[in-house]
Amino acid sequence: MPAAESVQSVVDVLFPVAVDTAYSYVAPAAMGLVPGAFVEAPLGPRRAIGVVFAQRPAPPGASNLRAVAARLDISPLGDRLRDFIDWVARWGMSPRGMVLRMAIRAPFHAAPEPKRVGLRLTGAAPARLTPARERTLAAAQAGGLMTKAALAKAAGVSASVIDGLIRQGVFTLETLAPEPAAPVGDPDFRQPLLSQDQAAAAAELAKAVLAQSFSVTLLEGVTGSGKTETYFEAIAAALRAGRQTLVLLPEIALTSQFVDRFGARFGAAPVEWHSGIGAARRARIWSAVASGEAKIIIGARSALFLPFQSLGLVIVDEEHDGAYKQEDGVVYHARDMAVVRGRIEQCAVILASATPSIETRVNADQGRYRRLVLKDRFGGRAMPKIEAVDMRLKPPPRGKWISPALIAALADNLGKGQQSLLFLNRRGYAPLTLCRSCGHRFQCPNCAAWLVDHRFRKALICHHCGHMERRPELCPNCEAVESLMACGPGVERLEEEAAELFPDARLMILSSDLAGGAERLRAEFEAVARGACDIVIGTQLVAKGHNFPGLTLVGVIDADIGLTSGDPRAAERTFQLLQQVTGRAGRFETPGRALVQSFQPEHPVMRAILSGDSEKFYAEEIEQRRRAGLPPFGRLAALIVSGNDAASAEAFARALARAAHDLPRSDGWTLAAAGGLPTEGELSLLGPAEAPIAILRGRHRFRLLIRAPRSSDLQGFLNALLAAGPPQRGGVNAAIDIDPQSF
Ligand code: ADP
Ligand code: ZN
Repeated sequence: MPAAESVQSVVDVLFPVAVDTAYSYVAPAAMGLVPGAFVEAPLGPRRAIGVVFAQRPAPPGASNLRAVAARLDISPLGDRLRDFIDWVARWGMSPRGMVLRMAIRAPFHAAPEPKRVGLRLTGAAPARLTPARERTLAAAQAGGLMTKAALAKAAGVSASVIDGLIRQGVFTLETLAPEPAAPVGDPDFRQPLLSQDQAAAAAELAKAVLAQSFSVTLLEGVTGSGKTETYFEAIAAALRAGRQTLVLLPEIALTSQFVDRFGARFGAAPVEWHSGIGAARRARIWSAVASGEAKIIIGARSALFLPFQSLGLVIVDEEHDGAYKQEDGVVYHARDMAVVRGRIEQCAVILASATPSIETRVNADQGRYRRLVLKDRFGGRAMPKIEAVDMRLKPPPRGKWISPALIAALADNLGKGQQSLLFLNRRGYAPLTLCRSCGHRFQCPNCAAWLVDHRFRKALICHHCGHMERRPELCPNCEAVESLMACGPGVERLEEEAAELFPDARLMILSSDLAGGAERLRAEFEAVARGACDIVIGTQLVAKGHNFPGLTLVGVIDADIGLTSGDPRAAERTFQLLQQVTGRAGRFETPGRALVQSFQPEHPVMRAILSGDSEKFYAEEIEQRRRAGLPPFGRLAALIVSGNDAASAEAFARALARAAHDLPRSDGWTLAAAGGLPTEGELSLLGPAEAPIAILRGRHRFRLLIRAPRSSDLQGFLNALLAAGPPQRGGVNAAIDIDPQSF
């Protein structure tokens, strides 16, 4: 045997499965493995694809390790991405393999992309020239080779019109090249004239990008202050430096407007990455990101795990948004992990928001982050005038939700031909259905939650597990006829009320459960922006970052909805939501106005919204967190114990709590006195208690909260606790949520 072939290395291969360990194999030198290489190797009785996480020379002598079967032709995962995977797994206490899985799923969906077919005019004239056909021909002449869908959209006709023309030989079909994976923007394409504040902030951001080292900047500016235009200049700087940019947005619904604005600035569309992108395209984008060909990626939180070749800038827009927290599977907060990725990649990170999270504000106040502020709306536009409607004084009649004051404002705005928004953060028709004759309430069979009445979908739906049933004619309990009653409002019911009040107005509901998904939603947002409706009725979906040029009045139906939860973050979240949604008003020429219906207008959150004094609100909120030792001043983790029955779940949770009390003496952990604030070297334990959703998908849930000082090794404690606690069996399971968002 030639010497070269006997030289071997041992590699540790991590597989995309729910384990933490990378398994060792031998590999012949001829295979040319490097750390990060994709390999196929035996895993149990099968072969599986994994990634080399470590490599070392094989010790002399025969080895009892199995051998790597093959090396795959996929560009290796870089050191920095592997570091990041390790980091996310350690921080969130998730199996490393599951984090790896998020990073490498895309390249294996290599099914061929569907062929794109273009329509070419043959010159033949159609048999009959209807107006629709005329528009189609004109659009085809102007637009050149287009797909059927693109032509139908450009001409404003249905696909069947085009099918008719194809049958008559007016078009021939021609295969088009696939869409390029990575169009490239031009940093100088259409540079806007920035305001003085914008220009100053943009210069700072560009400097941070060019430094090519790790930094975090909070870009804080009131709604409509022009944050997007400002951070576009940081993207331009990264483009000029030949480095990649990642822009994270909290909602897919926001991407279409972003893509359009981006196109107007850079002359090309950025690469989009989210669950709505087809598998084949994702595979091509993954490679284009790895090769560095894709320069600008805009996406949902999962884009954080892309294999960037040379990342120069990460932007987290609406950084305060709760949607950045992933709570299923691998638990992580995309904003926090974006900062981690930025540190590993040694690049600039920008966190943008009109209402920063308390965590980010504290980081900025303590000098860990730079803070840039845009104080005023762009172009001297005024902030909306915000008024409270005290619902205790002149409430609407029973079963109605729009107050007389708001009705008057809506009528006035309609009279002026301007657009209004009614905001209610509740999907569906009514949050609860009950029987008037026996009091029966419709509850989810799998969860401790009421079923929400959805009239459009003609069903009662659980918002936690998705369980769906028909709304019956008779009460299932007492069989009374016509006794079922909707309790409380949802956006569908609000629309009914608005339609009764304003029969001639054009109404539109914007909510995440519209049929038709992302495409339909995109069309609806465009319709609103175009002014195709008079009153928009929306959930929190409309509160975020949208630009509705004609919108001048915002009515908040139930401003107090989020304040009653008892969750320490309730005030912060309500403040952010109200600030964002009222900020949709008057972003263009006409000044805006907002009416906020509240049962407690004296609440500090309401006072902050009404006075516009957010600094006072932040100061008070930060002080409260400090006193309670809550994040970011202390660290917090939730342990959710779930089981098939309440007794076994509770027993397990109690056993864990006992283990926590016994742990200190052996391992050096000290538990603070019950309920006390933990000091240096201490932890404190709350619970177990029923989790906020006590039954979810048929599982009974109990929760332990662990609080620790900022400097403590919370993960280390949890690892020790799980090891010392009872074994997880009999269907009982303990899941960890570091930095729980609601508690
Ligand atoms: P924010 O993200 O802070 O809410 P945007 O970036 O969406 O604000 O800007 C608000 C509006 O002002 C948008 O319509 C935007 O096009 C416009 N705008 C902001 N900056 C400029 C500028 N320098 N030149 C022209 N229009 C601008
Ligand atoms: Zn349910």
